Amino acid sequence: MKEKAIDLICSVAELSSLFERRQSIEGFLDETVKLIAEHMETDLCSIYLLNQETGMLVLRASKGLNPGAVGNVTLAPGEGITGTALKQLRPIIVPKGTDFPNFKHIPGINEEEFEAFLAVPILHGLRRIGVIVCQHKKINYFNQRDARALTAIAAQMAAMIENAILLMELHKERPSAPAVKKKRSLPPIMHGQKVTSGIALGKSYSLGRRGTNSTLSIDKNAHYMTGIEAFQTAVNLTRQQIQVLQDQLKENFADVGSLIFHAHLLMLTDEAFSGEMEQLIRNGQVASEAVVSVVNRYIDIFADSDAAAIREKAQDLKDLGHRLLLNLQEQDKQNEDYRDSIIISSELFPSELIKFAAQGAAGIIVHKTSLTSHLKILGQSIKIPIVSLDNKDIFNIDEGTSIILDGFQGTVFIEPDTATYDQFIKLADEHSMLDADMQIEPLIEVAPGETVALMANIGLLGDLQIARGYGADSIGLYRSEFPFLIRNDFPSEEEQYRIYHRIFSEFNEGPVYMRILDIGGDKQLGFLTDEDPEANPFLGLRAIRFSLKNSEILETQIRAMLRAGKDGNLHIMIPFVSSIEEVRDVKEVIRQASKNLSEHGIEHNYKPKIGIMIELPSTGFILEELAREVDFMSIGTNDLIQYLLGVDRTNARVADMFNPFHPAVLRFIARVADVCNEQKIPLSVCGDAAVNRNMLRFLLGSGIRNFSVAPSSLPDMYKWLKEEHFFNGCSNFKQDLLSRGSSEEIKKILN
Ligand code: PEP
Ligand code: MG
Repeated sequence: MKEKAIDLICSVAELSSLFERRQSIEGFLDETVKLIAEHMETDLCSIYLLNQETGMLVLRASKGLNPGAVGNVTLAPGEGITGTALKQLRPIIVPKGTDFPNFKHIPGINEEEFEAFLAVPILHGLRRIGVIVCQHKKINYFNQRDARALTAIAAQMAAMIENAILLMELHKERPSAPAVKKKRSLPPIMHGQKVTSGIALGKSYSLGRRGTNSTLSIDKNAHYMTGIEAFQTAVNLTRQQIQVLQDQLKENFADVGSLIFHAHLLMLTDEAFSGEMEQLIRNGQVASEAVVSVVNRYIDIFADSDAAAIREKAQDLKDLGHRLLLNLQEQDKQNEDYRDSIIISSELFPSELIKFAAQGAAGIIVHKTSLTSHLKILGQSIKIPIVSLDNKDIFNIDEGTSIILDGFQGTVFIEPDTATYDQFIKLADEHSMLDADMQIEPLIEVAPGETVALMANIGLLGDLQIARGYGADSIGLYRSEFPFLIRNDFPSEEEQYRIYHRIFSEFNEGPVYMRILDIGGDKQLGFLTDEDPEANPFLGLRAIRFSLKNSEILETQIRAMLRAGKDGNLHIMIPFVSSIEEVRDVKEVIRQASKNLSEHGIEHNYKPKIGIMIELPSTGFILEELAREVDFMSIGTNDLIQYLLGVDRTNARVADMFNPFHPAVLRFIARVADVCNEQKIPLSVCGDAAVNRNMLRFLLGSGIRNFSVAPSSLPDMYKWLKEEHFFNGCSNFKQDLLSRGSSEEIKKILN
């Protein structure tokens, strides 16, 4: 047995190095099998990929098999050991291949001497990608630990391998459609919806509208170097810059960012991509034009795809082309490719937001239809101002147009005059000074014997530092879906464990409320919904419904949470609960996961607190029963208001109806507070509505003492709570509001 098996997960440095050594997609797969063979201490490792059209597994790379077999060996799912692993979606360990009932002998590929088999399916999300097979001469060579290690490696590599497949697809010749652009003049001031606050001043960089092939173009005023040497230098520089960006991301976004640029690297070193440019230049084309023509041909192919994951690659292509062009210019080279740019995009994926922010973008404008709550939460986390606009003409704006983006008001100024510009520079400076040194106390005595707890909502690991910086000592909501959303796949148990472990190592005293995956509604995982879109995702397989239907994903996450929270104050929070049965089912999964970990001697938290989010109207009518099942409750006002009032939380058209002070909302919250007080169930509020002076007074008046808010809202909450008479009269204020049956009357009191 190989002792270090469970630690055999590839490091980021190793994964990155795959891109350095290889020369083509096939070369990348060759390097991959070599790396895996090394880790698994075996002489034979192969990768089979599923051809989506034929439904057959095809041998695509092998270390150990006859090279002539690559591309020529095919297996149906269920056929042989390899096909069975894919069909049954589980690792298969076979001590001696010929004993396997379904063994398929393939003559002439040189596998006769390799008796022991370990085959593990490669899954990207729920999508089947292929199978990794390790073989060894020694009978009975592989064990369960090896299977776990190879499964972890397969999970780590799935996204990269899928990118490789996409690029192989790209090598097939296809005609391209010319881009069509219509231009209309833009008004000087455009009013939209504020998404994340802040002020950005910069030049426009439009990604155009997805599906309309936003192509790369040459800057007519720039001077580009030409010739093969200049091109090769630009390619090398581009690679180095991307490596630096990747390293920085690893530092700042350990949870999501480390390999976010892998598609860029893959394309950059792909012979059919940079090699084609090189060929054009050797044939006499100017370097910048060669870059533009190859990039645009590929953009055309990807941009028209129905699949979000593929459209995202079109943006990566443009991004890469943009960087190559900059590096062909005679000017100072920088890693921050989009420094001082306002990115304008009709549809922006969470991973793209991270990429642009990492490359120095100043602000973001999105079309209102692509606004999701996660974009908003992410924007808050990485502190980048975002405004959403209704006007589609903005996507045809000339590149480099001067723009001011006011994320406090939701306003965009096109080509502002100098006076406006100066005014906003001043305002931006003032805001950046504000609250920088603010320190809060996490427990505040608002009256003798009355203590209020302030906790932080965390999305990215980067939020931890901000929350700590302000003095928070507990996390009232960790939105665990972020690593899933940004990477656009399902992180393995080990990866989740590492992320969660970071949280507990920084917040080791106070409670940490880890929320089970909350996807669906407007928090869509592109790679899932592409295949099977729901007509009504807000009322569909969202959050805990998804997890209970995909029990393996739920169990993996629970195991990672229990392990990471071993010495911490772990609270597991169930989102989007609508019934008592869901709570019981999740509790059973947690019980089983703990039992299973114990059986394997794996240390973990044996007694996590288990609680629910109050977000759906149905919970209001089964509160007493729910209280008997759980250790705590937390009101998610964002969804509660949405579902109680039937108002889409992301729809600008009904934004004025999203009213936290609607009498139904207030009475609902007061009822939850009453039941929790009676039944002695700790209750918190973790939705955004609490960050409002009047609402905070109402909630205090209702008896709620725990609040979890975005780190950036901690200073405001603290200031209000420290005001001398803030708590006085809260109870009467609450009574007064509850006695009014219309929003109008309540509005009058608030004014
Ligand atoms: C809520 O719904 O109020 C909440 C805190 O959860 P999220 O915003 O992540 O849906
Ligand atoms: Mg919610």
